[in-house]
Amino acid sequence: MLRTEAGAGTAGFKRASRIASLEISEIVQLAERAAVLRAEGRDVISFATGEPDFPTPLHVVEAAHAAALAGKTRYPATLGTAELRAAIAAINDVTAKEVIVSTGAKQVLANAMLATLEPGDEVIMPAPYWTSYSDIVSMAEGSPVVVACPMAEGFKLSPAALEANITPRTRWLMLNSPSNPSGAIYSPEEIRALADVLARHPHIWILADEIYEHLNFVPFHSFKACAPELAERTLIVNGVSKAYSMTGWRIGWGVGPAELIKAMGTVQGQITSGACSIAQAATLAALTGGQALLDERRSAMRARRDKVVRALNAIPGIDCPVPDGAFYAFPNVEGVLKAGGFASDADFCGWLLDKAGIAIVPGRAFGLPGHARLSFAYSDPELDAGLARMSAAVTARINS
Ligand code: PMP
Repeated sequence: MLRTEAGAGTAGFKRASRIASLEISEIVQLAERAAVLRAEGRDVISFATGEPDFPTPLHVVEAAHAAALAGKTRYPATLGTAELRAAIAAINDVTAKEVIVSTGAKQVLANAMLATLEPGDEVIMPAPYWTSYSDIVSMAEGSPVVVACPMAEGFKLSPAALEANITPRTRWLMLNSPSNPSGAIYSPEEIRALADVLARHPHIWILADEIYEHLNFVPFHSFKACAPELAERTLIVNGVSKAYSMTGWRIGWGVGPAELIKAMGTVQGQITSGACSIAQAATLAALTGGQALLDERRSAMRARRDKVVRALNAIPGIDCPVPDGAFYAFPNVEGVLKAGGFASDADFCGWLLDKAGIAIVPGRAFGLPGHARLSFAYSDPELDAGLARMSAAVTARINS
């Protein structure tokens, strides 16, 4: 792993301490290694990136074209265009003052942390968590408090584990349902149980990242709908990247109390001036146009999920639970590590890429070692070929 060091570099260059401990994302490292192998002529199949393979819907692309031709090419309002904020407000049953549109959900998270954390403030994140959570918190000079949520507990935070990790410095709980990387979806009862703990600790705010909302294979319930009494300290994060295949358009949004949204706008105003006006017009078309594609894509993902879970569980040493949402499998690979003589999940994933040309991401990148993440947002031929190769390589290694 590449750890960057303060003070290292040329001509006296020194990184700021707030980013000195950040590491280059393991996912990016794997993608770069895969690109090098491909350039060497190797046949590499990558299941590393969390990006749907479907195209952005045509009517969305056309709306962007029309917006550009109509001259919607000037600086947007900092918190988002009036039209898009109104549409998001209507969907969430709030006023537009409670909505901020940002350059991806990632920037919503960054805005929220930069706008609220004092150095050393703690942010509870159940592991496995999306890799950027801890880095964004660290960059905002907060302290990530990682709470391991093992497979036996469905990768979900229990009320007892939440309670045990609360301190007077706790500022936020980050909850991601459906989860990247585990696919876990919290039931209304599970959300209620967490809400009851949070009700006793009024200094804690809740960031509910619901960007995989529409990629659900069991019913999805929003945190806010289940815990309306916590609305005045809840920030819902969402966006079009995953559901509408719009990762490159970079539009996400936050829905929360007006005062928080205003503070986040203060940050955003100095960093980007606001999200791309043309991408916001495209997002408006995505949210207000026909929604049939969501069902179609969900069904396609479900079929892939079933295929991938079946194939993974047929590989010796791999134990893969069925994810309830998102588009990732997060199997336990400890059996492979043991039988194959691997030192760690990262060692295994590095070997798999070099030996079999298959890129998957080690669980330690998500705060839960002993696992690996495989994205199934890939075509059937890629999934079939990749899983067959993975199975053959692992089986040969274990039997050697
Ligand atoms: N939250 C989660 C859980 C994610 O997986 C991602 C993307 N990988 C994001 C937020 C950020 O999405 P974007 O910035 O593309 O809107």
